[in-house]
Amino acid sequence: MSNKPVIVVSNCLGFCNCRYDGQVINDKFVKALESYVDYIKVCPEVDIGLGIPRDSVKLVKVDGKAELYQPGQDRYVTKEMDEYSEKILSSLDHADGFILKGRSPSCGIKDVKYYQSMVKGASSEKGIGRFAEKVFEKFPFSAIEEEGRLTNLALREHFLTKLYTNMRFREIKDGKLKDLVDFHTRHKYILMSYNQKELKSMGKIVANHQNKKYEDLYGEYKEHLGSAMEQAPKFTNQLNTLMHIMGYFSDYLSKDEKEYLLKSLDKYRKRRSHLSVPVGILRGYAIKYKQEYILGQYIWEPFPEDMLDISDTGK
Ligand code: SF4
Repeated sequence: MSNKPVIVVSNCLGFCNCRYDGQVINDKFVKALESYVDYIKVCPEVDIGLGIPRDSVKLVKVDGKAELYQPGQDRYVTKEMDEYSEKILSSLDHADGFILKGRSPSCGIKDVKYYQSMVKGASSEKGIGRFAEKVFEKFPFSAIEEEGRLTNLALREHFLTKLYTNMRFREIKDGKLKDLVDFHTRHKYILMSYNQKELKSMGKIVANHQNKKYEDLYGEYKEHLGSAMEQAPKFTNQLNTLMHIMGYFSDYLSKDEKEYLLKSLDKYRKRRSHLSVPVGILRGYAIKYKQEYILGQYIWEPFPEDMLDISDTGK
């Protein structure tokens, strides 16, 4: 791994006492990532001048439109937030991912209280924070999560896989066709485990039968990559991918070796073990039988292994 991914993080997640009440929230995962990534810390509410401590803000519907409102000061800060978001996000082209504070009317990515009117005691629905909304608009293909959801192991693995894949893709932005071909080749099995249909479309882009410019190919590929990795991979797709890899050396394996490998895949299928168990066995065979093409795949280590504490199930 040559470089570090760039993550935009809510500043109140362990870095600054910038919450409305002057508090900070210490998050284990955000802290643990610190030595692996480059953080860009932002606090949208402080950055638009609301100060610390401050009267809290909330999302409300006014004349059918979503507004960010500070009841204690009876003022709207929607315009300020939108201008700030546009400005800061335009300068963050190199961001590979975002970790935002959940449930905040500015940073929350889902389940944020969204009041249906200004009337005291008005009912609320679930919505998205104003700054987070702009993040999704500007970075539709980025790895975007909130700290609470990252306590879930599957979501955390998906986030890290997407984050590091985005970083590797960013690194070839000014590259040549051979770099895109190499990227596609080495991510083949990660992409297969995510979305076979998109993998095929991306194969066609890389084949470049129409002799398109690299810049255009890169842009097209980026859209498909984002769509392929939008959701965490399905369990069945992961198993199919591993079975596919097994095909590379199944002729060399004894009956007992095959049985053991299939048993470990079955254990994973029944959720009695982690994916890394069958992956580790397959990687051992790839080394033993010198399968260079297979060994070059990022599926073995989509992100640095020690970033994940397997004993932490996130529950
Ligand atoms: S949730 Fe966002 S706006 Fe609120 S304190 Fe944290 S960083 Fe600032």
